[in-house]
Amino acid sequence: MNRKRIVILRIGHRIGRDKRITTHIGLAARALGASGMILTSEDREVEKSISDVVSRWGGDFWVKSGCRWQDVLKEWEGAVVHLTMYGESILNLEDEIRNCPKDLLVIIGAEKVPFSIYERSDWNVAITNQPHSELAAIAVFLDRIQQGNELEADFGGRIRIVGKQVGKEVIINE
Ligand code: SAM
Repeated sequence: MNRKRIVILRIGHRIGRDKRITTHIGLAARALGASGMILTSEDREVEKSISDVVSRWGGDFWVKSGCRWQDVLKEWEGAVVHLTMYGESILNLEDEIRNCPKDLLVIIGAEKVPFSIYERSDWNVAITNQPHSELAAIAVFLDRIQQGNELEADFGGRIRIVGKQVGKEVIINE
């Protein structure tokens, strides 16, 4: 697989109300191979929660909040994917997106997403045409695009789990 950068653009995050799900989106995106996440609202708590995980568990995932999506899209030089239940099935688009050599900006919403996002995106991608969650959509998308390769990443963190059938083995390097 050609290793392009995948960055999440989270639109419409509501301070307080969306803190938990946006933090989980960041954690899932990090664990599943994305490079970073941009939030359109300024939320230092979400930034801090995710940075704390990065400092202990490794990798270089970053979070930037308080960015206007219009500016992000103007400056982004790669391709743009918008995850939406109104889009075309991932099954029809995954090969094309996977083979695109450009970095990917993946847009996910909270409430209603402005129509100009649909127009600006190179692909409006549905992870089924049923309503569900941005967290589920991003996880399925990242896995399909990277074909499971992301599951083998080594984050080189201070804390590492040795996976076992039974029991918990945690290695902590101070
Ligand atoms: N009704 C909203 C709309 O008009 O966009 C959807 C809100 S949904 C709770 C929040 C986000 O989850 C959406 O913006 C989209 O990114 C993602 N999402 C939900 N269902 C999806 C699906 N079936 N396929 C892809 N993304 C989905």
